Amino acid sequence: MNADFEELYERIRHGAIEREDALFLASNPLYLWCIADELRAKENGDIVTYVVNRNINFTNVCVGDCKFCAFRAEKEQGYMLSMDAILEKVEEAVINDATEICIQSGLHPDLEISDYCGILEGIKSQYDVHIHAFSPMEIYYVAIKSGMTEAEVLKELKSAGLGSIPGTAAEILDDSIRAIICPNKVNTAKWTEVITTAHRLGIPSTATILYGHIESLEDRINHIFKIRDIQKETGGFTEFVLLKFMRKNNELGKMVDRSVSSQESAIVHALARVILHPYCSNIQASWVKLGLKDVQKMLLSGANDLGGTLMEENISRLSGSPVGEYMSPDDLERLIKDAGRTPRRRNTLYELL
Ligand code: SF4
Repeated sequence: MNADFEELYERIRHGAIEREDALFLASNPLYLWCIADELRAKENGDIVTYVVNRNINFTNVCVGDCKFCAFRAEKEQGYMLSMDAILEKVEEAVINDATEICIQSGLHPDLEISDYCGILEGIKSQYDVHIHAFSPMEIYYVAIKSGMTEAEVLKELKSAGLGSIPGTAAEILDDSIRAIICPNKVNTAKWTEVITTAHRLGIPSTATILYGHIESLEDRINHIFKIRDIQKETGGFTEFVLLKFMRKNNELGKMVDRSVSSQESAIVHALARVILHPYCSNIQASWVKLGLKDVQKMLLSGANDLGGTLMEENISRLSGSPVGEYMSPDDLERLIKDAGRTPRRRNTLYELL
């Protein structure tokens, strides 16, 4: 290692990486992957975690118009699950050892805070399970529909049984990109406000990035630095989840004339590890988005978590996910062992089970 590299590595180890360092590393991927893997080994050992969970998308009716979405439907064509149907899905999940129910849905124009609390209370009254639900966009929309602030909405949801929130709807935290790919979603400032409000109220969240569409390498790096800044301030992120853009059946897919190589995915996963070090030690690769072979490669590029078994996955499937809607714990563990790592089941808050 020459002196410049040594100095850079020391900066990264001490959490003092700069944007220019990240850009430099992205153009020196072998070096980047080495550092990312070393930091992963230091922070997580050879353990790769996953959670047994179930996704429930209780409605696909949505007033939004995100250009990457193949899930939404107009009210006339869409569905809305009854409480009984939701509880049946929870029952099936719990029988299969799920510790987490993940609920995300469209922005249904007829729903208010009482409907969202009703879902949480209905589940919690019957099952001792962690509910990870409602993106910052859903929380913002419910607040508008209910004439409340986001803080009031979050407090009510927490009292009704909300355990944590998904940090989805982040996409790329740059308003010029958001204006093209999700013009009616919360802007960067509002996403940040909802997430930091949740953290301050004691509601942890994940953080996400949607990469592989119209954004540049610099945009990806800036996004990860924004996540880092929030994490330094609140410490409320449990993990950073990298979501590769799925291009089938959506408008954005027609606008983007390229696909994302596994090398490109490995670079952005490794960048997440080095930029977020030492503030966020869980970097999650998505088997649904990447497929099984590529997700194993991410374990060599800084990732230490494979997310959930899911049991039911609608959003990526409709956009062309190459793999199924469910991975059994046995299959996930085999995948992890085949990559030379030790699988461990965890709960939503990263306590090993
Ligand atoms: S991504 Fe979510 S908010 Fe956007 S259109 Fe699809 S369902 Fe609606």
